[in-house]
Amino acid sequence: MAPDPARAEIVVDLAAVRHNVRLLRGLTGPDVAMMTVVKADGYGHGMSAVAAAARTAGATWLGVATVEEALALREAGDTGRLLCWLGVPGEDYSAALAGDIDVTAYSQAELAEIEDAARATGVTARLQLKVDTGLARGGARLEDWPDLVAAAAKAESVGLVRVTGVWSHFACSDEPRHPANDDQQRVFEEALEITAAAGLTPEVRHLANSAATVLRPGSHYDLVRCGIASYGLDPAPGETAPDLGLVPAMTVRARLSMVKRLRAGDSVSYGHRWTAPYDTTVGLVPAGYGDGVPRIASDRVSAWAAGARRPLRGRVCMDQVVVELGDAEARPGDEVVLFGTGAGGGPTATEWAQACETINYEIVTRIGGRFTRTIVDSEGTQP
Ligand SMILES: *Cc1c(COP(=O)(O)O)cnc(C)c1O
Repeated sequence: MAPDPARAEIVVDLAAVRHNVRLLRGLTGPDVAMMTVVKADGYGHGMSAVAAAARTAGATWLGVATVEEALALREAGDTGRLLCWLGVPGEDYSAALAGDIDVTAYSQAELAEIEDAARATGVTARLQLKVDTGLARGGARLEDWPDLVAAAAKAESVGLVRVTGVWSHFACSDEPRHPANDDQQRVFEEALEITAAAGLTPEVRHLANSAATVLRPGSHYDLVRCGIASYGLDPAPGETAPDLGLVPAMTVRARLSMVKRLRAGDSVSYGHRWTAPYDTTVGLVPAGYGDGVPRIASDRVSAWAAGARRPLRGRVCMDQVVVELGDAEARPGDEVVLFGTGAGGGPTATEWAQACETINYEIVTRIGGRFTRTIVDSEGTQP
């Protein structure tokens, strides 16, 4: 490979995103709609590029947390169905309604704000209602559900809203044998009965995130909301089939700033946490915790350089970290891959996450800082 001029970059392959979205659609069959979740800048991959790739691969819906994220997608030219789900008191939903965005109410207070926006804009709000089936995060608790549903039905009867969806979210879908999954789905069924009894006819009922899409087919209903798996990362390491075929879309790489020889007994980086037990070569990677490389990764993870896995040695600093190259031939400017597709035996974000006591979501979402982002398409087609 020709040397890449970038100092440190995040390379995102849209062909991998399309592959993953198609693969996930294959798990649900054609009667279940696919929502690709692109919140938090597409889990750090670049929201609008990922969104366009997901649309190409058949995502009829996109999902984001905030109204601002949804509006940014409209700015970027996306025109398809788009749901957002996290407001704050005083939220102005007018722009969302004008932008043809489906909005979510967790409570009657939120519903009232959405009705205000419908009156102000003259647009019938496309409204989804979220029930808290046991995550105890967003959504109406079951005891408050009948009143929320009744208020929504009333708003629908006067043309202020159209209830397009009813949904909830799992707490333990990455632990398929956890009893909370069955409990939550039972509560969801109850909430759906209450919704139907109130005369509401939502287009989409949805409950499954990536892990449930893969591990709990009975939770697919009309639509699945896939985030992490769309980026090629395992939503439930140790639970999903290893040959599922997801391809990580993100590769994080840099060029070695410097290469030097250490003698046995030399200690590396702040606190001298690692001492070379033998003579060895180290390379300086120009990225650190200021760029989202977790400080806890110190002495725990490997990168890929000079044709092999190479351990990070000593403390991760704000701007730099040291990788041990052994006796390999390496020169300043050589490429080092912190994590990527795993093809050829290199490290993955999932492996970094496990070493850093976190989840792959956090590794890819937080990487950024001074890394530049390069969007590529390994199939050479337009995204
Ligand atoms: C982030 C999010 C998802 C996507 O979850 P993954 O585990 O990444 O598939 C789905 N639904 C909601 C409500 C979310 O907040």
